[in-house]
Amino acid sequence: MQHGATTAEVERVVAVVRELGYEARPMPGAQRTAIGIVGNDGRVDSSRIAALSGVQEIIHVTQPYKQVSREWRPESTVVTIAPGVSFGGNDIPVIAGPCSVESEEQILESARIVARAGGTALRGGAFKPRSSPYSFQGLGKEGLKLLALARAETGLPIVTEAMDDEGAHLVAEVADCIQIGARNMQNYSLLKTVGKIGKPVLLKRGMAATITDLLLSAEYILSEGNGQVILCERGVRSFDPSSRNMFDLTAIPTVHKLSHLPIVGDPSHGTGIRDKVTPMARAALAAGADGLIVEMHPHPDSARSDGAQSLYPDQFQALIGELRAVAIAIKA
Ligand code: PEP
Ligand code: MN
Repeated sequence: MQHGATTAEVERVVAVVRELGYEARPMPGAQRTAIGIVGNDGRVDSSRIAALSGVQEIIHVTQPYKQVSREWRPESTVVTIAPGVSFGGNDIPVIAGPCSVESEEQILESARIVARAGGTALRGGAFKPRSSPYSFQGLGKEGLKLLALARAETGLPIVTEAMDDEGAHLVAEVADCIQIGARNMQNYSLLKTVGKIGKPVLLKRGMAATITDLLLSAEYILSEGNGQVILCERGVRSFDPSSRNMFDLTAIPTVHKLSHLPIVGDPSHGTGIRDKVTPMARAALAAGADGLIVEMHPHPDSARSDGAQSLYPDQFQALIGELRAVAIAIKA
């Protein structure tokens, strides 16, 4: 309450809080009176209270999301996308592969390189959300068939993006984990659809989304009964054009504190520049990431999307070795 709020004003707020169905606990202080609201099991719509005479400010102490919060579930969630491939446990899974599936030869070659280097899962978009409608849009259903072929040969589980409700069902037939891209993080209809489908979901942070926005989007999936959600920090828009995005490393420990869901780092989209990928991959792991998703292309110079940020095969192999060293170092 404002300094100098009258007893009548305090009583009026208490009455309105009770009318809304909650308990009101006035706490008189030397400067002003605070009124605690208890008995709510979620965020209270504060608009009615904020407008009352004598009210200074509304301070939320509970989070707007529920099932994704650590308060709801203190122990960390482990998401298993295929036998032996889990996020949020003791392993450091690395999802790797090209930005897009381009051809049978390209995706099979990619899968072999990922498997040989010790990568854990294969990525590659069949449906591509491109900023320009004139850019390569992906091979669609044909791309999904090629991913299935790559899994059959290498045994690597598949992570691939769904862009709309119809596509989500097609993707679910092949994918071990359905990716929701940054541009679709707030496509609530799609979030509900993948929530209902029930397969593991990799939910990427929108490029202008706050951590609260990301967690609320995850809440949509959990609220449909699907708790298999892996979050992903992939960089946010910034004022500085020297990198494609600003890779927000702080998001990793922040999410760990607020939520029980695992979070992986995407240093490829996070930086947009190949020579920045390895340093930021190491950093993400050191910051506590539950795994990584990295773009690697057998021939980045001829990639149909995101070639500039795709690692060369030998760079990817070197990265896997370094990540092991980082994992050992931070456990020490
Ligand atoms: C991708 O993973 O290739 C992609 C399009 O990522 P984002 O949605 O993070 O831009
Ligand atoms: Mn990409």
